[in-house]
Amino acid sequence: MKGFQAQELTRVIEINSKICKGCDSCKAFCPTDAIDGKYGAVHRVNSEKCIFCGQCLVNCPFGAPKDTIDVVDKVIEKLKNKQVTVVGTIAPAVRVAIGEEFGIEPGSLVTEKLYGAMKQAGFKILDTNFTADQTIMEEGTELIAKIRHYVLGEPSAHHLGPLPQFTSCCPAWIRYVELYYPELIPNLSSAKSPMMMAGALAKTYGAKEVWKVNHEDIYMVGIMPCTAKKFEASRPEFESAAHYWSRQGKKVSYPDVDVVLTTRDLARLFKKLNIDFKSVPEFTDKDNPLAQYSGAGTIFGNTGGVMEAVLRTAHFVITGKELDVLEFKPIRGLTGVKEASIVMKDAKTGKEITMKVAVAHGLKNNVKPLLEEAKSGKSPYHFIEIMNCPGGCVNGGGQPINPMGTSWLDKGKAMFPWA
Ligand code: SF4
Ligand code: SF4
Repeated sequence: MKGFQAQELTRVIEINSKICKGCDSCKAFCPTDAIDGKYGAVHRVNSEKCIFCGQCLVNCPFGAPKDTIDVVDKVIEKLKNKQVTVVGTIAPAVRVAIGEEFGIEPGSLVTEKLYGAMKQAGFKILDTNFTADQTIMEEGTELIAKIRHYVLGEPSAHHLGPLPQFTSCCPAWIRYVELYYPELIPNLSSAKSPMMMAGALAKTYGAKEVWKVNHEDIYMVGIMPCTAKKFEASRPEFESAAHYWSRQGKKVSYPDVDVVLTTRDLARLFKKLNIDFKSVPEFTDKDNPLAQYSGAGTIFGNTGGVMEAVLRTAHFVITGKELDVLEFKPIRGLTGVKEASIVMKDAKTGKEITMKVAVAHGLKNNVKPLLEEAKSGKSPYHFIEIMNCPGGCVNGGGQPINPMGTSWLDKGKAMFPWA
């Protein structure tokens, strides 16, 4: 199919023609006008325009759009196979939403229960918060190098992409840039998303040092609030662990992340395994180095979380001091977009830098002016965080479906949390 690489998933969301009423609601949520069909007629998703975000799925009043990639039974089969070490990497936004599938108050943070249920199911854990910390270090280091080069005029030993730097952890946003703003591809951070870092880490360091198993016997499962992550895992460029081992002399080929379960899929898996989530004993996995993380990794799933974590890192490296308070202010006339500036004094040269950043969520309505500015070379920002879903991953297309809007946000405001 046009626009796809070999072995990539070409379709994640499909509309069930028997359920679709042609009401047009999904069109109001699709950021790319990927839904075809006249009012009153059955609608369909145009895969060549779709960015796999699942916003149509979580917002259709009739439940017509479906996630077509069902790997729950496949993961259960792997969990039962004693030869295989099944590692689950849990995204920050899953732990505030999974409880909802078991009658727990939406928005409850149930990390220890989730760890307990994962253990009972037979998973080893690599917390995505751990690799969110790695992503912050990578993105922060990249941003600092660009600031030193482009703003402070220092020479650079490496090729650096242009400013503003955009975040790269949301696969729907990446697909959007590739399809609709290819000129801005060089502006994307070169850091992989936390899920893809987790895959590479599990099949190298994790296999060797933590679980002490053959890397080929690791089955890596991303546990995500997101349908677009299913597409991301299928991208052929994510085979870093296999490249690493091939360089050690043994030619192998496998993906860093084998499959992705959404929050809804994981709840189904627990139910199929008769795991009673509410009464499962809590577990902290405190001896596992890959289940440790900072507060920065934890805020990754909220809009503004990546930005704040990266800025704190950049501020500390450039000034040698912790950042006190970071105040974001809404940008007039642009819903869902906030900006902040911080003044930093470079500890090495004493030069002052004013760093300007912006945060946007909800590709449907909010980002175009920011992108047009960057495209014309007139962006006033150094760093821009973009997440496809309104409010960030907490309202992702893989989260529990709530007829009043998704998941944990205040019900009346859930669809437009910034309103
Ligand atoms: Fe549109 Fe997202 Fe649905 Fe694709 S998954 S049709 S991009 S709303
Ligand atoms: Fe997935 Fe989060 Fe991006 Fe939504 S904002 S598409 S949940 S990564």
